[in-house]
Amino acid sequence: MNQPIPYGRQHITDEDIAAVTDVLRGPFLTQGPHIGTFESAFADYIGCQYAVAVANGTAALHLCCMALGVTSGTRVITTPITFSASANCVRYCGGEVYFADIDPETALLDINAMRALLEQHPKGYFSGIIPVDFAGYPVDLAAFRQLADEHGLWVLEDACHAPGGSFTDSTGTVHRCGDGSLADLAIFSFHPVKHIAAGEGGMITTNDEALYKHLLRLRTHGITSKPGDLTEYQPGDPERGGWYMELQELGYNYRLTDFQAALGTSQLQRVEAMLDRRQAIARRYDEAFVDTPVTIIVPPPGVDHAYHLYVIQVDSRKELYDFLRTKQIMAQVHYIPVHLMPYYRQFGWKPGDFPNAERYYARCLSLPMYPTLTDEEQDYVIAAVRTFINS
Ligand SMILES: *Cc1c(COP(=O)(O)O)cnc(C)c1O
Repeated sequence: MNQPIPYGRQHITDEDIAAVTDVLRGPFLTQGPHIGTFESAFADYIGCQYAVAVANGTAALHLCCMALGVTSGTRVITTPITFSASANCVRYCGGEVYFADIDPETALLDINAMRALLEQHPKGYFSGIIPVDFAGYPVDLAAFRQLADEHGLWVLEDACHAPGGSFTDSTGTVHRCGDGSLADLAIFSFHPVKHIAAGEGGMITTNDEALYKHLLRLRTHGITSKPGDLTEYQPGDPERGGWYMELQELGYNYRLTDFQAALGTSQLQRVEAMLDRRQAIARRYDEAFVDTPVTIIVPPPGVDHAYHLYVIQVDSRKELYDFLRTKQIMAQVHYIPVHLMPYYRQFGWKPGDFPNAERYYARCLSLPMYPTLTDEEQDYVIAAVRTFINS
């Protein structure tokens, strides 16, 4: 291969480019009509009632923590195997991050570890949980919702890896990731390596109208001008002209631009085809690595994996990573456990705290996974991994 093969990459078509340039030629670069179009198209795709477009997935997490009332001392539990933003959002609001270990079978948050942690403390000690659909494997949110209800916790689903993914609960009901049926709030990212590329961008989804309205205000500085929402305003007050608006709380400018929304909307037209392609690539990898020393995670029937990442686990991971680089295959490691990051170590977390996560990290490697990866390129990747394993 003369071109390096990355682990992930966006796919931009002429239609996408036309959608963006149309906006650039029009009157609104930001706060135009494409935001609402993107939000409703995304809500339709995900199957939720409300969607709020924001600047990026991290901003989405931050606003969710604000809307859920995270403040100084609020304790929240997440997984160590995620992008650090899943934990950082709690810190932005002054909260305290706790971790529960992963289940080695799925690399997702282990509900038994979570239950054990909750039971070590009095009720009310923790306020919420942030499960992550890591790699695109949907967490069993029905089980987490039940546990959260037993302990009076909110649930914020980090679904950045899993738009289009779903799982089936014990009654046979299918829940799509972020559909608002179980989590209070869910978030997505439109970073170029994710399923939908908008340059940067994020989305919050929910079925909770009050949270939705609050998020709209937090996204725009905490300002509102809607007559029914104003607090210092009496209807018909002659002192208050058409310019009148109120800063009601401290929010941020976390808006998405209109041309990013147009790009996101254009990408959304192809999202199902792109997901099918990701799943087809995953099946080919699965077939190649079954009955080899390579550990793979294959979800059971009823779980529709969205395959943001295709992760294998091998004993000589560093050597395989280096070997693949010599072949121009840019495999990547997802993730260094969050609790081992220098920033989090200051809170007392240390090696040995989450043995499953650390064992997983020692062996994990994400192989190229994106819709435009060709069969020929994938065969080349598979052959390189096989060569390494047999050497
Ligand atoms: C990408 C990602 C984020 C952050 O999204 P950005 O749009 O890059 O800010 C958060 N959580 C997870 C799991 C992610 O993969």
